[in-house]
Amino acid sequence: MRQQIAAANWKMNLTLAEGQQLLQDILSKSPELSSHQQVVFAVPFPYLAMAQEAIQGKAGVAIAAQNCYSKKSGAYTGEVSVPMLQSLGIGYVVLGHSERREYFQESNQFLAEKINISLEYGLKPIFCCGEPLAIREANNQNAFVGQQLQESLYHLSATQLQQIVIAYEPIWAIGTGKTATSEQAQEMHAFIRSQLSAQYGEAVAANITILYGGSVKGANASELFSQPDVDGGLVGGASLIVEDFLAIIKALK
Ligand code: PEP
Repeated sequence: MRQQIAAANWKMNLTLAEGQQLLQDILSKSPELSSHQQVVFAVPFPYLAMAQEAIQGKAGVAIAAQNCYSKKSGAYTGEVSVPMLQSLGIGYVVLGHSERREYFQESNQFLAEKINISLEYGLKPIFCCGEPLAIREANNQNAFVGQQLQESLYHLSATQLQQIVIAYEPIWAIGTGKTATSEQAQEMHAFIRSQLSAQYGEAVAANITILYGGSVKGANASELFSQPDVDGGLVGGASLIVEDFLAIIKALK
């Protein structure tokens, strides 16, 4: 079975002490994970070392950075490099979140560079894609997401692609309380998988984990995750609430 992942995106929330407490509360109550299940916490940069330490010995749990820079090192004040993340033992990096695309003008091409350096150092990108409301209303979501995939991923070899987790996050559903229906999520996930299949072959596409993100909560996770091409979720708001995120972990296939 494909890897099923519950990924928490804390965004720019919580103090160090609050983050420590949240991790402890979730980890102490988290159900035992099967070998195909994983829980990932994408925490702010200053908490990465704390979080990495907190998950030591916890099978199936990993830490993600929420971003990285595209260069290895140098005069880029304020940026964080992939070798730095690797030196902390970080397993994943979230790339292309819609908030970074919108507020920091990250393009598909720039994201391709970040993906390349992440893979070079053995970090798995959680590559976010998804359309804004106007594109959905014009029913152009497939072309929009297809272009994001093409411009950021299709230069990769099949071996490299298999290190990528894709998160489909319709922008109109992020932080809005407006979730895509499970049918809408399944439809787009199946489209993404069909595109990957056309590019890399069916066997490769069948193994790629595709997460859904956009107002996933304890109450709707089971319904969303029950869809055949939905392999878990990337969760913002509800990942900050212990009982909600635990319910999301329990909803993994
Ligand atoms: C996200 O941050 O990726 C996200 C999907 O947020 P929320 O769950 O709050 O909609």
